[in-house]
Amino acid sequence: MSRLQDKVAIVTGASRGIGRAIALRLAGDGANLVVTATSLERAESVATEIEALGRKALPLACDVAEFEQVESLIKGTTETFSRIDILVNNAGITKDNLLIRMNQEQWDDVIAVNLKGTFNCIRAATKTLMKQRAGKIVNITSVVGIMGNAGQANYCASKAGVIGLTKSVARELAARNIQVNAVAPGFITTDMTAALPEEVKENLSEAIPLGRMGSPEEVAACVAYLASEDADYITGQVINVDGGMVM
Ligand code: NDP
Repeated sequence: MSRLQDKVAIVTGASRGIGRAIALRLAGDGANLVVTATSLERAESVATEIEALGRKALPLACDVAEFEQVESLIKGTTETFSRIDILVNNAGITKDNLLIRMNQEQWDDVIAVNLKGTFNCIRAATKTLMKQRAGKIVNITSVVGIMGNAGQANYCASKAGVIGLTKSVARELAARNIQVNAVAPGFITTDMTAALPEEVKENLSEAIPLGRMGSPEEVAACVAYLASEDADYITGQVINVDGGMVM
């Protein structure tokens, strides 16, 4: 039997990059998926890939920054699958600028999606998870939430916030047998990093002991482990998937 056979998993921001790789990995491990993106069309595209793996997939459009839309996501999940076993809070954005030039909108938007979006999803799913007395929450943070990064004060603050949120919720939900952990990717090849100039990428790669960028699949493997019963005794942790960037 596969490790996540017939588990029900929600992955936010599953249309591309790390979220798509996580959704496909969880499906490959036997889970049925609810996949979200800001556009239904993009969510449907990954749902088709999941169905090709022989698993069920429910695509939904959901802006995680909007609590009502997140409530609909959770309602849609329980109406279709009757339960939630795994919640992966992956949706995230960047709006980089040096602090001196960063405007209110750049700050607010990044905090709204990355930090409030993660809170919204946990908040909306928690009642169901508590009733079940079982569940796994995996939040995608970033190594820059630990080490900081010039030009990303908004993003780093949001990701540091996700770490504090992870640890607090892990403590609150432990008594209900719900494990809450975070995965902190380093420098991963996705649309988010594709925009960086070659020179910046080369310099960043030099700072990675393993000497290369990571793949979305390498992040997904860690998420699949934390989402499985193999990780039943792990909660409140942040696991870096970063080629040794932070140690
Ligand atoms: P991408 O930009 O490739 O994909 C982002 C995903 O998030 C898309 O599916 C997008 O959906 C979705 N999304 C964006 N805004 C919202 C929103 N308001 N509500 C719901 N979904 C939204 O990003 P990555 O795959 O690179 O990143 C995924 C996660 O990993 C993020 O949290 C990111 O911060 C984190 N991370 C990435 C690293 C990297 O090197 N790439 C390093 C460390 C952390 P749509 O297609 O509709 O736009």
